[in-house]
Amino acid sequence: MDFSLTDEQRMIQDLAREFADREIAPFSVQSDIDKSFPLAIQQKALEVGLVNISLPAEYGGAGLGCLEVALVTEQLCRACLGIGTTLCINVLAAEPILQAGNEAQKRAYFGRLAAGEFASFALTEPGAGSDSAAIRTTAKRVAGGYELTGSKIWISNASLASLMVVFAKTDPAAGHKGISAFIVERDSAGLSVGEPLGKMGQRAAPTCEVFFDQVFVPEANRLGAEGEGFSIAMRTFDQSRPMVAAFGLGLTQRCVDESMAYATERKSMGKRLIDHQAIAHRLADMRIRLEASRLLTYQAAWLADQGQRNTVQASIAKAFTSDAAMWAATEAIQIFGGMGYSTEYPVEKLFRDAKVLQIYEGTSEIQRNIIAREMERA
Ligand SMILES: Cc1cc2nc3c(=O)[nH]c(=O)nc-3n(C[C@H](O)[C@H](O)[C@H](O)COP(=O)(O)OP(=O)(O)OC[C@H]3O[C@@H](n4cnc5c(N)ncnc54)[C@H](O)[C@@H]3O)c2cc1C
Repeated sequence: MDFSLTDEQRMIQDLAREFADREIAPFSVQSDIDKSFPLAIQQKALEVGLVNISLPAEYGGAGLGCLEVALVTEQLCRACLGIGTTLCINVLAAEPILQAGNEAQKRAYFGRLAAGEFASFALTEPGAGSDSAAIRTTAKRVAGGYELTGSKIWISNASLASLMVVFAKTDPAAGHKGISAFIVERDSAGLSVGEPLGKMGQRAAPTCEVFFDQVFVPEANRLGAEGEGFSIAMRTFDQSRPMVAAFGLGLTQRCVDESMAYATERKSMGKRLIDHQAIAHRLADMRIRLEASRLLTYQAAWLADQGQRNTVQASIAKAFTSDAAMWAATEAIQIFGGMGYSTEYPVEKLFRDAKVLQIYEGTSEIQRNIIAREMERA
C-alpha cells in the first residue's frame, strides 16, 4: 500500500495551495459580506489550470482524476468554502455528460466549460430533495424534442450558468425509472432564474431557484436514454461526493490552522491556551478527525479513479468529513472564546459555512441510509 502522492499530484496541490492563499483568501470575508462571487478569481483559476481539471484532455480539459479534483478542492475550500465551491461545482454538471453524453454532446459542451462557462446541476425541487425520485418537473414529448415544465430550488451557480443539466420526468407514473436528464441552455425561452437565495453561510456561492415554463429542449440534448436520469444522477454522486468530502476536509484544515495559531498565541491564567490540557486535547481531537477525513476522502477518490465501485466509500467520506467539519468549526469557536463569536475573527464564518456540508449532495442521514443499504447488500 502506497500513501504517497505522485510528483504531478504534489505539483497541482502546491499550485492550488499557493493560488488559494494569494487569490482567494484575501477576498473571502468581503465576498461573504457582499454575498457575491468575485468573477475575476474564476478567470485567474482558469488561466493557471485549476478549474475543470477533470474534463478529458481531448475536449480541452486537463484529463485529471477524482483524486486530483479532491486535492485542488481541499486547498481552494480551505481559503473560502463559498468561493471554492463556486469554482469547483462545474464538476457536478460535467459528470453526467461524462457518464452518459455522446461524442457530439461532449465535444459541444466540454469545450464551452473549458473556455470558462459555468454549468449547474438541477435535480432538487421544493417538494423533492432527499427523495429525488419524487421530482415533479415534467419533460413532455413534442415534435423534435421535449417541453420542460416545473421548478428547481437550491441550484448552485444557477445565476452564473450558461448551461444546466436538468432532471425531469418523461414518465411521471414510473417513479425513479421515469426520470431523464437533459442539457438545457440558460437562454432557452421560458427558463428563468430567481435571485440568489439568502443563506446562513457559503454566501459567496450563488444558489437560486430555476423555473421552466414549457421550455423546449431538442432531443439531441437528452443525456442517455429516456428513464436513465436517476441512474445518471446516482453515478454522478459517486464521482462528486469525494469532491464534496474535500470541501469539508479543506474547512477542517482551516479550523486546525486557525485554532493552533490562536491557542499558541493567546494566554490565560499565565499559560498559553495550548498548555491547558482541555484545549490541547481539543486540538488533538481536531487533528485526529482531520487525518481521518483526508484518508477517507482520498480513498473514495482513488477508488473512483481505479474504475472501482465506490458508492459506500464516497458516502462514508462525505458523511464523515461533513460531520467532522461542523464539529471542528464548533470546537474552533470554543477555543477562540468570545472572539470565536465575533465577526472580526475567521471562525464564525467557518461555522456558518460548515453547516451546509451536512445538507447538500445528500444529507448526513441519506449518506447513512446508503451505507446501511450497501452493508446489507454486501
Ligand atoms: C447551499 C445549497 C446548495 C445546493 N446545491 C444544489 C445543486 O446545485 N443542485 C441540486 O440539485 N440541489 C442542490 N441543493 C439541494 C440539496 O441537495 C438538498 O437540500 C438536500 O438533498 C436535502 O433535501 P431537502 O432540502 O429537500 O431536505 P428534505 O429531503 O426535506 O430533508 C429534511 C430532513 O429530513 C431528513 N430525511 C429526509 N428523508 C430521509 C430519510 N429517508 N431518512 C432519514 N432522514 C431523512 C433529511 O436528512 C433532513 O434532515 C443545495 C442545497 C443547498 C442548501
